[in-house]
Amino acid sequence: MAQKSIGYVQMVWTCPNCSTKNPGARRTCKNCGASMPKDVKFEVPIKEELIQDQKTIDEAKTGPDIYCGYCGNRNPGNATTCSNCGAALAEGEAREAGEKIAVSNEPVPETIRCEVCGSENPVNQLACTSCGSPLKTSYGPPSNTIPETPAGQKGKKGFLASGGCLIAGIILLLLGFAAIYFAFLKTDQTTAVVTNTEWKTQVEILGLVNKSARDWYDEIPSDGTIEDCTKEVRKKSDTYVSGSVEECGEPYLVDRGNGFSEKVQDCIYKVYDDYCTYTYLDWGVISVKTATGKDSNPRMPVINLGNNQKQGSENATYAVSLLDEKGNKYSYYPSTIDEYRTFSLEDVYHIEVNGIGNIVNLEKK
Ligand SMILES: [Zn+2]
Ligand SMILES: [Zn+2]
Ligand SMILES: [Zn+2]
Repeated sequence: MAQKSIGYVQMVWTCPNCSTKNPGARRTCKNCGASMPKDVKFEVPIKEELIQDQKTIDEAKTGPDIYCGYCGNRNPGNATTCSNCGAALAEGEAREAGEKIAVSNEPVPETIRCEVCGSENPVNQLACTSCGSPLKTSYGPPSNTIPETPAGQKGKKGFLASGGCLIAGIILLLLGFAAIYFAFLKTDQTTAVVTNTEWKTQVEILGLVNKSARDWYDEIPSDGTIEDCTKEVRKKSDTYVSGSVEECGEPYLVDRGNGFSEKVQDCIYKVYDDYCTYTYLDWGVISVKTATGKDSNPRMPVINLGNNQKQGSENATYAVSLLDEKGNKYSYYPSTIDEYRTFSLEDVYHIEVNGIGNIVNLEKK
């Protein structure tokens, strides 16, 4: 997803010394002169105003501020020496930046009432115009950050909870093995006589039939007849591509670490195109001819092909019925014509039968 910049917003910070609210770009408190400490977070003003002045925008684009390694003073990101003590800032530490901060969707009030003297103040003001008290014109810093959700942390609990299910799982598995054993692996031997042999052959007759398919307009074969089309997303791109429609998420702020935040939106570009249903003529099965018999010479059914018809696939199946001394009936399906031809009525076989009555082995007596 492309991050689209909307502009820059100046943040607010509260002096821990005297509770005065300061514009983000101010590095020292306007009331008591203390340098903004590193652990004080920037707050989002209730009324965010996109900066229009190019000089301030350039300032916002500068990297995070640097804290002096000697005196802890906050300095601009492009400074080389501390403005307070003159120490080289190569030893300093840059302020953390890049935190994503959610933007409130609440409507911005016209004015804010001073909690100390009760007078109404413009919402872009930081201190009361009557008594000078700090105004609640910014959101507190900690609550409105968007946490980066670490993947894979979910489901840890679920794994522990599933421990109890493990035993149930093992029992089910054992029952499964037992069922397989009795159904397929445990076999009984008996003697049976062939009571019937039967073959069945089939041939498909193919004709031209109307088939329906869906595809992009420009991918439809020339012999296709378009039925109807709808606009659907054909391509998604992180960057603008010609003919695309831009779709953006909710705007949010990215802390620049210098008293400003960049207001951005994650956007994706979708190209819509005609996706159509069309019909075309293609070979399809229009009928199946069948022949059956009980003799040892299976043959294909006789077919007569009409105009625009052709033969499709052929197949043959064979079945042998057997009866044991106890009156149990069994079916056996030879896989080839040669195997089928080895069976004759009244032949006696030793057969091996599994738990569900299927012949797994047989031998002529
Ligand atoms: Zn102060
Ligand atoms: Zn310093
Ligand atoms: Zn006041």
